Amino acid sequence: MSLFPQAAVIGHPIGHSKSPRIHRYWLEKYQIQGDYIRLDVPPDLFGRSLEMLASIGFRGANVTIPHKEAALAAADHVSERACLIGAANTLIFQDNEIIADNTDGHGFLANLREKAPAWKPGSALVLGAGGAARAVIVALAEAGVAQILLANRTPSRAEALAHALPAPIETIAWEAIPARLKDADLLVNTTSLGMTGQPPLEIDLAPLPSHAVVTDLVYAPLMTDLLKRARARDLHVVDGLGMLLHQAAPGFEAWFGTMPEVDDALREKVLK
Ligand code: NAP
Repeated sequence: MSLFPQAAVIGHPIGHSKSPRIHRYWLEKYQIQGDYIRLDVPPDLFGRSLEMLASIGFRGANVTIPHKEAALAAADHVSERACLIGAANTLIFQDNEIIADNTDGHGFLANLREKAPAWKPGSALVLGAGGAARAVIVALAEAGVAQILLANRTPSRAEALAHALPAPIETIAWEAIPARLKDADLLVNTTSLGMTGQPPLEIDLAPLPSHAVVTDLVYAPLMTDLLKRARARDLHVVDGLGMLLHQAAPGFEAWFGTMPEVDDALREKVLK
């Protein structure tokens, strides 16, 4: 293993990635002599790029679009959660082998527990059935959520997800959301609605119980229209930035040997 620990984020394109900012902040904070770089690698060169990085002593990599499924296929060992989610975002190079993990669900739960400490696993209404929803649902089931209502614009995607995951999922029609909000202790938006440049998520939150927590995976803008309306109803809201920050922590620990803290200075650094 090289004395100067290095890791990378690999994607295509990669310019938008906030991962270098997060990991470099922690390297500086913990005074670790190492580096974290971004690499733009097209799909046909992805496998070779992993071989090359491992051969020159990199400790591992984050992987993002479009390599998350290929990363799973390239690994010698796959964590149970990455296997269930069907995608990896964190690779660890160890003893000439590649270990693949998916830390999005960990990031989601760590953020929820940090920002809504009174939240207890009960029932959840999850909006969306894409890659992020898979990670959220696996994490919610692991945390002991007993009922997961799942609504997606394209119902067949929600049904496929309900079949694939060992979680207590009841799929509901998008139109049924207003009637089922009263059953939810937690509302999670995993769709891209509400993101800058996308239409807002237009749901009347009036039927949600007063103890319900509302969380949005979208973090640009930080305070989405959904969260603003939840706050106007005095509900507890949790923004999506913390998930992005917490999902990075297990990789940092594996590569650089310290479990890093997600603090306010990091939040500010990433928002800049
Ligand atoms: P994805 O796989 O492309 O899924 C997108 C989801 O949004 C699908 O369920 C899709 O529904 C739904 N959707 C898109 N446009 C819609 C519309 N006009 N009306 C209703 N539903 C619509 O994307 P993803 O990877 O799951 O990511 C989803 C969001 O989560 C993105 O905003 C992403 O930035 C965010 N995210 C945040 C974090 C974090 O760390 N905070 C981590 C991962 C993802 P259909 O199936 O009907 O197309």
